[in-house]
Amino acid sequence: MSFLEYAPAPESRAILNLRDEYGLFIDGEFRPGGGESFASISPADEKHIATIATATDADVDAAVAAARRAYDKTWSKLSGRDRGKYLFRIARLVQERARELAVAESLDNGKPIKESRDVDVPLVAAWFFYYAGWADKLDYAGLGANPRSLGVAGQVIPWNFPLLMLAWKIAPALAAGNTVVIKPAETTPLSALIFAEILQQADLPRGVVNIVTGAGATGAALVRHPDVNKVAFTGSTPVGREIAKAVAGTDKKLTLELGGKAANIVFEDAPIDQAIEGIVNGIFFNQGHVCCAGSRLLVQESVHDEVVDRLKQRLSTLRLGDPLDKNTDIGAINSREQLDRIRELSRIGEEEGAVRWSADCVIPENGFWFAPTIFTNVQASHRIARDEIFGPVLSVLTFRTPGEAIEKANNTPYGLSAGIWTDKGSRILAVADRLRAGVIWANTFNRFDPSSPFGGYKESGYGREGGRHGLLAYLKGAAS
Ligand code: NAP
Ligand code: MG
Repeated sequence: MSFLEYAPAPESRAILNLRDEYGLFIDGEFRPGGGESFASISPADEKHIATIATATDADVDAAVAAARRAYDKTWSKLSGRDRGKYLFRIARLVQERARELAVAESLDNGKPIKESRDVDVPLVAAWFFYYAGWADKLDYAGLGANPRSLGVAGQVIPWNFPLLMLAWKIAPALAAGNTVVIKPAETTPLSALIFAEILQQADLPRGVVNIVTGAGATGAALVRHPDVNKVAFTGSTPVGREIAKAVAGTDKKLTLELGGKAANIVFEDAPIDQAIEGIVNGIFFNQGHVCCAGSRLLVQESVHDEVVDRLKQRLSTLRLGDPLDKNTDIGAINSREQLDRIRELSRIGEEEGAVRWSADCVIPENGFWFAPTIFTNVQASHRIARDEIFGPVLSVLTFRTPGEAIEKANNTPYGLSAGIWTDKGSRILAVADRLRAGVIWANTFNRFDPSSPFGGYKESGYGREGGRHGLLAYLKGAAS
């Protein structure tokens, strides 16, 4: 029971200037889609936000044709310096419209406004600024002098960081001289459509970026399109596998950013206060809808009880509710489908004998919600220790020695990220060296920077986004 209750502090929606209906963004303008329109709703109250067009195969074809024309006639003819100017302009417009984008993102996705305002949107701008700086320096990317762009990139992104994933895809593609057709996720198309307006404001030549909304079928049409030179996908491992099959045997270049089941390893000498905050940030940030979430806590046996007790205390102070409220820590689950999956896996966790504890939150009547949850007594063979739950659910396992921690951490089909908490620098280096994960954080978690490459091993996919490495996915060297 808290002594002080917070008064509601909702961010105003007045800044939004939404249309009732959004078409597809093809060749620099909005046009109707041939498929049946669908609604984007707010997962916090299930209310309708806007009607969204569905791109058919013919619409995808038109978008790819527009991207091809733009590539041949304008974009591939511009100097890197001129491409950079457009990217800088986009970055500045994102900053100017930051509050509007943050409100739209929280409304459509359900994530707390303090996350979209302080993390997602600033990172979106940072990504465009960073790659704007690369556009005229491609000779230094490590592919020799004069690396060449690939052509048309077909990109498909998920719903957990809608605008940030769009930035991760579009910024390096354009900097490297490619044109783009991108498909946002069905439940979160809104920020991409506002971004389309930003592209018009930035006077980006028509057809350089095309945005096709719709469901999985639209994404499938895009990645299979014969005139696409490069496919970039972020999403689930099963869909990634399907895309890899569809692309196999073509000369399309492919990068896949898929799921994860990251170990967050806490040694007994760790700074416990920071570790508690890091564990919370690792798995409850964005309701756990994070591919690199620290969803498996590996805690040294000697500090297990202390860590779990303090975690429960900390989780009891988190505020769950209206994503637009500035005091909200835990927002809504993105969709009913995702909520069902989280519930199902949690039920299986209990059935398998793990011990469930959920924070005592008041769950709003409408919308999709799941209280922050911890499972203790988890065995490595349990589904909740193996499957990606993609929700605010932490599975706690224990270890005695560093060797055991490493073995348990690597005991997963995934390999996207990991965390290490310890006072000893030498231990950080020794453990990190043996973890099979693309990104490893030490005494912190979920930190992102555009200059730092991000990507996985094994079933977490292949290719890197971010940094110089992120450019390589969109370039071919003089020799290749
Ligand atoms: P998903 O079902 O794979 O969907 C991802 C995107 O692919 C969506 O736009 C989806 O459209 C589209 N899609 C669905 N079926 C397709 C098909 N057959 N061909 C082409 N596109 C298709 O994944 P999700 O549930 O949205 O996202 C959660 C997953 O993404 C998690 O596993 C998470 O770990 C992963 N993720 C990974 C990273 C990373 O960087 N590694 C980052 C974020 C998320 P619809 O939305 O219309 O279904
Ligand atoms: Mg939505």
